[in-house]
Amino acid sequence: MDALLLGSLVFGFALLGILTRPTGALAAFWPANAVLLGVLVRRLRPTSVLAWCGAAAGFILADVVMGGTWPKVAWLTLANMAGVIVGYLLFSRIPLGHRRLLQPLSVVYLIVIVAMASLTAGLVGMVINPLLFHGSRADGLLIWFTAELVDYLVILPVILTMPAWRRPQRDQRHREFVLRLDPLKLAPALSLFLGGALGMVISGPGAVSYLVPGLLWCALSYSLFVTAVLTLLCSVWTLMAVSVGYLHLGSDFGGQYELQSFRIGVALMVLAPLAVASVMAARNELLRQLQHAATHDRLTGVLNRAGFIDQAEALFRATAGRQREFSALMLDIDHFKRVNDVYGHAAGDLVLADFAQLVNSCLRDTDVLGRLGGEEFAVLLPDVSAAVAQAIAQRICVACAAHSTLLEDGTPLISTVSIGVAHVPDVPVTLDAFLSAADAALYLAKQSGRNRVVISGDESLPAATAVP
Ligand code: GH3
Ligand code: MG
Ligand code: MG
Repeated sequence: MDALLLGSLVFGFALLGILTRPTGALAAFWPANAVLLGVLVRRLRPTSVLAWCGAAAGFILADVVMGGTWPKVAWLTLANMAGVIVGYLLFSRIPLGHRRLLQPLSVVYLIVIVAMASLTAGLVGMVINPLLFHGSRADGLLIWFTAELVDYLVILPVILTMPAWRRPQRDQRHREFVLRLDPLKLAPALSLFLGGALGMVISGPGAVSYLVPGLLWCALSYSLFVTAVLTLLCSVWTLMAVSVGYLHLGSDFGGQYELQSFRIGVALMVLAPLAVASVMAARNELLRQLQHAATHDRLTGVLNRAGFIDQAEALFRATAGRQREFSALMLDIDHFKRVNDVYGHAAGDLVLADFAQLVNSCLRDTDVLGRLGGEEFAVLLPDVSAAVAQAIAQRICVACAAHSTLLEDGTPLISTVSIGVAHVPDVPVTLDAFLSAADAALYLAKQSGRNRVVISGDESLPAATAVP
């Protein structure tokens, strides 16, 4: 199956390349090698000998279908496969983060590996050029090396950074659509047109890098993948604009070596924006981890006090002025100190983590759960009436009393919880006052025997809502 898939992929892209190949020369655009290498690097499983054979068969078949003859087909396939194999072996020796270009130094690995793969193809080209095209060995090396380097550098980053496909959720799709419509977000991409236009006004060798400022702005603004796609488009545009005479690099430009130098220059142009986008990706990931550490509790994985207050206040602010119901639960594990005293602190930690998981399983994704400190937790329930909040609290209470935490030595331990409930129409609408009302109800739940739910405002009748 693997061999068939890789073979078909190579066959398709090789056909595309052959269609751009002038008779008797090499293809102007040869994406098959870079696509094959990219796909092999992205797959996490090793490539079998059969899969390699499938890929080689794809190259051979495409050439034969388009009228290629032996031994030319064999030599060209050898050059293609040799570069891809060297690239694959080198990529498989570097860490996954670098393979996805997610680290600051990833671009250095990329250029070294791609240069080695291109050099391998170039060495085969040294042999092929005199045999098949009656050219010199030096030209063979240069032509194959340059062609491979350009294709790898321009195409590989797009495949290596392509996000795994996930079905977007409905509200996410809407948000992305709104984002796409924001003209400010489009400004970096639009600035690339300015760079392109400048090439028409001030022509000359420097025109190769007129797109670099725009690409750097894109790298600072967009994801790594979008940057990689834009660098691919800009490189292809520059190569084509020069070949059709739209962009003039100088009057004596056009010799074999100048052309190769120009192509290498365009390929290397992608490195700066890619390096910036990689550093930004690493920085954003670090910020995300920091943000998570600052707002979440390590032991239970739920929000910590600061994270809970931030999220709850954001929810409150977002609904200010609109009619929206809120309920809050304040939860405190009963006699928790005894767990520590009898079974040890580690057992207490286990009970806390287990308890947070149990409460979480009773809530919706939109509810906000936080550990306010010690064995005290709070929940904010948006769009929940007092009666439903009471039912949820009782469900948690019953579930907790029916659940036992297995300690490390296998001892089952049952804990109970007391819960105070508050509802927005009953209390002043500030988060502080709201949580204080739930806290006061919790205090009453403790006083009236624990393992029960008390509703704020019903303090005079705590027993009526108590869990038996
Ligand atoms: P009550 O039913 O009145 O709530 O009694 P309690 O024992 O649960 O409450 P108390 O406030 O007397 O004790 C809380 C204990 O929680 C004291 C403290 O040592 C323990 N504790 C706080 N944070 C942690 C923690 O992270 N891990 C562990 N194992 N224990 C903790
Ligand atoms: Mg307690
Ligand atoms: Mg407590």
